[in-house]
Amino acid sequence: MTATHEVYAVKFGQHPSGKHGEYFYGSAAEPMDEPAQLDYFVWLIRSPGQDIVFDAGFTAETAARRRREHWYAPSRALADLGVDRTAVPYVILSHFHYDHVGDVEAFTGARFVVQAREMAFWTGRHAARHEFRRLVEREDIQRLAGYGLDGRLLYVDGEREVVPGVRVHHVGGHTAGLQIVSVATARGTVVLAADAAHLYANVEDDAPFGVLTDLPAMYDTFDLMRGLATSPDLIVPGHDPAVLTRFDPVDGLDGRAVRIA
Ligand SMILES: [Zn+2]
Repeated sequence: MTATHEVYAVKFGQHPSGKHGEYFYGSAAEPMDEPAQLDYFVWLIRSPGQDIVFDAGFTAETAARRRREHWYAPSRALADLGVDRTAVPYVILSHFHYDHVGDVEAFTGARFVVQAREMAFWTGRHAARHEFRRLVEREDIQRLAGYGLDGRLLYVDGEREVVPGVRVHHVGGHTAGLQIVSVATARGTVVLAADAAHLYANVEDDAPFGVLTDLPAMYDTFDLMRGLATSPDLIVPGHDPAVLTRFDPVDGLDGRAVRIA
């Protein structure tokens, strides 16, 4: 029997003053100026005696600089679900944009699961070009490169089972080395999309997000996620406020954390 896990989405901040047009590519970007909110989440994959974390959000300092609303450190938000941040064995990082890798230092005993081509990209020749550079923090990239030298990165080329029932998959589209996670749960296979689908509408309406490196690959990623998830409602987008209403709230953490499976 495959090991099954519980899965939670935990909100730590938001961007209430975004615009619809920023979040969709091409014709789906209309109406450009319509207000649209993004939420910021980290995800918890829990099995008896083991908490695995997917993504590490960003810090209060980064939030202030980028004018995002920051409720608390992602690791603090996870502590409210009983996560001992020092005991987390793996933190899976979807990609290196600032809103996914900021609070890694909190996980003092973890190895960080990254796609080799994501690190290659951000230490490579295109990283300084404005449309890429604006999406990352220098300190984040330097810290991750340092973890590489310390042997704390678990490099993946494509697909890999991190622990039984928890699998990462490289997907194209948003960044060079974006990865998603599929998790075996009692409800079936859950797909944590992170930025492979920022919003439900990206994957449900086949409408690509506005920030991309490879449009055909982004469409292929939508197909891959539909194939992996046991049902469409088990594809969990990375930034959609509706995640907090489509799933059941965690007791005492209404509006902050939901149990997906
Ligand atoms: Zn993001």
